[in-house]
Amino acid sequence: MSKTDYDKILVINSGSSSLKFMLFSMEHETMIAKGLVERIGTDKPRLVYKPVGKEPLTKDVSAPTHGEALQHVCEVLVDPERGVLKSLSEVGAIGHRVLHGGEAITKPVLCSEEVKNIIRACIPLGPLHNPANLAGIEACEKICPGTPNVAVFDTQFHTTMPRYAYLYAIPMKYYTEDKIRKYGFHGTSHNFVTHATAEFLKKPVEELNAIICHLGNGSSIAAVKNGKCFDTTMGLTPLQGLMMGTRCGDIDPAVCVFLGRKGLSPDEIDTLLNKKSGFYAMNGIASADMRDTIAAAESGNEDAKNAMLMFAHRVALYIGGYYTLIGGADAVVFTGGIGENSDEARQLIIERLNALGCFLDAEKNRATHGQVAVISTKESTLPAIVMPTNEELMIARETYRIVTQ
Ligand code: ADP
Repeated sequence: MSKTDYDKILVINSGSSSLKFMLFSMEHETMIAKGLVERIGTDKPRLVYKPVGKEPLTKDVSAPTHGEALQHVCEVLVDPERGVLKSLSEVGAIGHRVLHGGEAITKPVLCSEEVKNIIRACIPLGPLHNPANLAGIEACEKICPGTPNVAVFDTQFHTTMPRYAYLYAIPMKYYTEDKIRKYGFHGTSHNFVTHATAEFLKKPVEELNAIICHLGNGSSIAAVKNGKCFDTTMGLTPLQGLMMGTRCGDIDPAVCVFLGRKGLSPDEIDTLLNKKSGFYAMNGIASADMRDTIAAAESGNEDAKNAMLMFAHRVALYIGGYYTLIGGADAVVFTGGIGENSDEARQLIIERLNALGCFLDAEKNRATHGQVAVISTKESTLPAIVMPTNEELMIARETYRIVTQ
C-alpha cells in the first residue's frame, strides 16, 4: 500500500459512557469530521456529528455498548448526504487514545493480542478508562476488520523519567509487586506541545528544555529536558500534583489515614478527593469551572479569590522546582482550556515567576485566547508562551507514522 492509502486516519477516544471521534486527512493534517456518541449504555444515547463544510447532525440513537456507538459513527461518516467518505475502506488506520500502558509501553503501538493484554493488565491502574479504551479497540476490530488499530498511551511520554523521579519512598515491594510509582498523564498533550514549542522556537526538539503547563479540568505540568519528560506532577493516578477542577492535588497522605480512621471507606475517600475537592470545594460556589470561579472572584467572593491564589501558588511552586531540576528552561508554556484561555490564571502564575526572569506582558496576555503567542515581556530571560494543544492530531500523526513507516 502507498502512503495515500493511509491518508484518512480516524481517531477514537473511548470513555466509560462516550465515544469521541475525529477524522483527519493527513496530507495537510486537516480535520474532516468530528463528533461523539454520548450516554452509551443509558436509555438516552445521542450522536453528535460535525462534518467540515456540511450540515451538522444531532440525533438520539440506540447504543447499549461501544460497538453500536461505533456502528453509528461509521454509518454517518459514509452517509450519502452528510458523509465525508465514500466507503469505510478509505480509513487507512484508527488511532486510539489509551490511558494506561504501565511501564511496558513506551511508544505508540499497533494493537495486537499482546498489546490488548497489556491494556487489560493495566486495568487496576486505570479502572475507569482502560476497560472503555479496550472496548473501543475491540469494536473497531469487529466493525472495520483489516483496518490497523494503533494505541497511543497517555502515560508513554513520561516513561523517560529517571527512577529517582518516579519512585515513591515507600517499601520497594509495593513497586516491585504492585507497580506503585509515578506514571504521569496528559502525555499526548505534553508531547504535542513539546514538539510545537520546539518548532515555534526554531530549536531541534532534542535540545528543548521547557516546562509545559497543561491546565484544564485536570491539570499537570511536565518538566521537559532535551525534549524528553524528566518529571511530571501527576502520579500513580491523576490525583497527584496541582489543584484541579474537582481533584485535591498534593495533600499530606496522612489526610487519607485520618479520614479512614474517621470512618470513611476507601471508596468514599476516593470520591471525596477526586470528585468533591479542588476548585469545587474551595471557591465557595461549588463549581469546578474556572470561568465560574473567575466571575465569582470578580464579584468579590473571597473564597473564589483564595482558590485562584491556591492554584497559582502551586503551579508556580512546581515551575520553580522544575526550572532548577532541568538546569534552566527555554520557555514556560501554557496549554489546556485554562492555560490557553484564562488570562487571569496566567497572570497570577506569571506574577510569581519574576525570580526566574519571567515577566508578564499584561497587554499581550489579555489579548491571547487560544492562539500561539509569547505573553512575557521582551526583557524576560524565561519566555512564557501560550501554545494550543491538539491531542487528537498528535494521535493521528503517531498512527499515520506507524502504519506508513
Ligand atoms: P479537560 O481537562 O476536561 O479537557 P479543558 O482543557 O477543556 O478540560 O479545560 C476546561 C477548563 O478550561 C474549565 O475550567 C474552563 O472553565 C476553562 N476555560 C475554558 N475557556 C476559558 C476561558 N475563556 N476563560 C477561563 N477559563 C476557561
